[in-house]
Amino acid sequence: RGATPEPPDVRPRLTVLSGPSGVGKSTVVAHMRKAHPEVWLSVSATTRKPRPGEKHGVHYFFVTDEEMDKLIANSELLEWAEFAGNRYGTPRAAVLERLERGEPVLLEIDLQGARQVRETMPDAQLVFLAPPSWDELVRRLTGRGTEPPEVIERRLQAAKIELAAEPEFDVTLVNTSVEDVARELLALMDVV
Ligand code: 5GP
Repeated sequence: RGATPEPPDVRPRLTVLSGPSGVGKSTVVAHMRKAHPEVWLSVSATTRKPRPGEKHGVHYFFVTDEEMDKLIANSELLEWAEFAGNRYGTPRAAVLERLERGEPVLLEIDLQGARQVRETMPDAQLVFLAPPSWDELVRRLTGRGTEPPEVIERRLQAAKIELAAEPEFDVTLVNTSVEDVARELLALMDVV
């Protein structure tokens, strides 16, 4: 009998953080990365216009409709979705490169994107970030103050549908405290 083989490395390397718009995904991710800048976050391409303070290549790659068409046609996106009138997608190559090196990868994407990743990368860990309550979600979406009422209304409609998807996810984190959720997410990613 030979020696017992080493157990395979089954730690989840690809983690998808999803949840309704306004639930605080990007705040959680920003908080987490302040403490752990080595955790790589995929930078999505989007046709949305930058909000004040958002930087090309940092928060998003801001692209034109034509550029997005091309990314999709050339299969350069791991997943993509239309959300509240704009398209968003995850550049494939950068994600695969890191996964091949065994590095943890985090995607912060909408529900439709999370579903696509579940199909194409079945080993991915899907994490749902839930608001403490519906009223709290409305408060957060309204309070951002950067979007006109009709955009907020569209996002609330989307959020209602998105909340119903929670059972499809592997794990749910309730966003009661940014610090707690960031810690829980790091633990799920096996970073700490
Ligand atoms: P926002 O416009 O507020 O930055 O993002 C709107 C929604 O799009 C959020 O739920 C965000 O997570 C999602 N999103 C951002 N990047 C991507 C992406 O690459 N793919 C998908 N499917 N959704 C994304």
